[in-house]
Amino acid sequence: MSESERPAEGSRAVLPVSPASVDLPTGGVVRPMTRWGTPVMHEAQAPVTSYDDELASLVADMVATMYAADGVGLAACQVGVDLAVFVFDCPDEDGVVTRGVVCNPVLELPEGKDRRLDDGDEGCLSYPGAFVECARPDTATVRGQDAGGADVEYTGTGLLARCLQHETDHTAGTVFGDRVSARNRKKLRKQMESAAEDYPEGWPTTS
Ligand SMILES: [Zn+2]
Repeated sequence: MSESERPAEGSRAVLPVSPASVDLPTGGVVRPMTRWGTPVMHEAQAPVTSYDDELASLVADMVATMYAADGVGLAACQVGVDLAVFVFDCPDEDGVVTRGVVCNPVLELPEGKDRRLDDGDEGCLSYPGAFVECARPDTATVRGQDAGGADVEYTGTGLLARCLQHETDHTAGTVFGDRVSARNRKKLRKQMESAAEDYPEGWPTTS
């Protein structure tokens, strides 16, 4: 996921870090971003079943690609890989940062009186340079496995709640453009087209 009001590079280091946060792998290779319209982005992803070196290498590349694109979350389909896994490094509503890897994510959203919608702006690295309002529950919990196969659970508010929902959507083949009105989809397309020069084919390997 991309965020229009992400703190400037360098300020991230001073944000407090959640105890649930893990160290993301380093040393990965930046890959070109897969865009909306590519079939892998619009199909449910294959479950992760092998927590092996190949997965570790993919996850490291996803982390490198997310940072190169200045994103707060990235799913495997966004680097063209049909696998249900995402990585994230994202602040919550209090500015507390959580970093993690989630394979085979399952989302739990509040219901009834606990369900409150946040209609903040949302963006996607696979449709870069475009942001529109997208209403989503303001808290979310995701459960799955880490890159080693151990069970993990993350709960987030604010941007982190949005990110956990956005990335889990990717593993199910849903992009946030599927969740907004036709009018906002049109607005999104216009913004993406007018920003296209900043995101050439191969981005973010080109920057
Ligand atoms: Zn996205």
